[in-house]
Amino acid sequence: MATRFVFITGGVVSSLGKGIASAALGALLQARGYTVRLRKLDPYLNVDPGTMSPFQHGEVFVTDDGAETDLDLGHYERFTGVASRQSDNVTTGRIYSSVISKERKGDYLGATVQVIPHVTDAIKNFIQADLGDEDFVICEIGGTVGDIESLPFLEAIRQLGNELGLKRSIFIHLTLVPFIQAAGELKTKPTQHSVKELLGLGIQPQILICRIERPMSQSDKSKIALFCNVQEDCVISAVDSETIYSVPMDYQTQGLDKAVCKHFSLPISKEPNMKVWNEIVNSIHKPDGEVTIAIVGKYVQLPDAYKSLSEALDHGGISNKVKVNLKWLDSEIFEKDKALEELEDVHGILVPGGFGERGAEGKIKAVQFARERNIPYFGICFGMQMGVVEVARNIANIKNAGSTEFGNPDEPVIGLMTEWYKGESLEKRDTEDDIGGTMRLGAYDCKIRAGSKIEGIYKKSLISERHRHRYEVNINYKDVLEKSGLKFSGLSPDGLLPEIIELEGHPWFIGVQFHPELKSKPFDPHPLFVSFINAALAQARLV
Ligand code: GLN
Repeated sequence: MATRFVFITGGVVSSLGKGIASAALGALLQARGYTVRLRKLDPYLNVDPGTMSPFQHGEVFVTDDGAETDLDLGHYERFTGVASRQSDNVTTGRIYSSVISKERKGDYLGATVQVIPHVTDAIKNFIQADLGDEDFVICEIGGTVGDIESLPFLEAIRQLGNELGLKRSIFIHLTLVPFIQAAGELKTKPTQHSVKELLGLGIQPQILICRIERPMSQSDKSKIALFCNVQEDCVISAVDSETIYSVPMDYQTQGLDKAVCKHFSLPISKEPNMKVWNEIVNSIHKPDGEVTIAIVGKYVQLPDAYKSLSEALDHGGISNKVKVNLKWLDSEIFEKDKALEELEDVHGILVPGGFGERGAEGKIKAVQFARERNIPYFGICFGMQMGVVEVARNIANIKNAGSTEFGNPDEPVIGLMTEWYKGESLEKRDTEDDIGGTMRLGAYDCKIRAGSKIEGIYKKSLISERHRHRYEVNINYKDVLEKSGLKFSGLSPDGLLPEIIELEGHPWFIGVQFHPELKSKPFDPHPLFVSFINAALAQARLV
């Protein structure tokens, strides 16, 4: 069938969970047997979120093809299992930069370059580019209707909707229906205004997803339908739920998939197959126990900065049938010794990815605590690097071990590698490049050492995982560190880049240079997280 385009906008307030709504609709359409691709248009001027602070933007989600993208793409992958690509996320910055570079090359043949049609054409091209034969493309528009920033995107989808016609396009608007305590009532007015705003831009939504604290009555639905010019069964009440993974089922109960299929005249007599989602939600609601994991990081005040990580830990919990409690700890507190008490009651310690010197010594202290107390330790990217520094200093007796990320240590156990091989091709890291250009980004293969613990976890000898970092464990220290028990159990195929380390004689001490959390799904939990939570469970039984 010809690809249908579903455009999802948001109104009234931001943070309504458009990303989850889009992802959940993707999962629902898959449950009806359709293929989907999800895309996001972001209205900010950065070319991509790679250079933004995690405090500003939350996590930067990395795709296999090395794109640094919005964290919503993580939700898309976790709900649909479809691997995102560079072509699935675009920003105003990227659109303008491509239009301006075309203008400089003279590609517009002397025309006055304008928002309409040149910018809107570039947006429409992006939405339709790099597609196969997907049944549905779900395209989320970032921001809130009424923002100046998102106007060119809204104009572009209006045009595209008009070109494709209603047989191939649909507009879904996500709004808030607040409950006003004093009046004891749900209020539909903000939704009416938001739809009016969209109408003013030429877009009539066909479906409204209303975020709401408590279920909506039929008369509320009728009122919204009447004022917003939509069918009653197209007003979906999206009541807050305990877990994001129940959203596909909640939407199904509310008839979202039916409303979409009806719009496109697709069959609705058969119900979607919700078996996987049922199982996931059941296992979340009925855990057999619980574990507590400390996350020792730098951006812990904003859990969105570690979105994929906390989800992957939950997936490890789902697979072990336990609830995973997260204890977020700012690594800087460990620079004062007493704070280590905070780690006494946890069953696993995880140091996630991070950049810069602030808090690094605190992370090293946390690693030492995990190592000495035999508490499961999981180091991801920066967490692996700090694990190596700790072992180098405290077991291998390389007292001045450090990373060249901060200063010039006498013993650079972590340093910048400027060249390596990816398959046959030589890749170079140019330190003079743009800030993004110095990073190793995207999927890289890693060879696993036979007989290692990690081999038992992955049950494979060659894996591929996603990267986002500049520095590497210095291969020149391999022999001395291995003599101290720190095994380099995963290496890049050319043998130059250490990818995985594990400490012998410790119940679970593993560091990985890549970000396994980016590939974990609730229905396909990442083996490293399954194993880590399992080790934490064993630890919980000990204490
Ligand atoms: N700052 C480290 C590097 O650039 C680690 C990066 C990360 O943890 N993602 O290599």
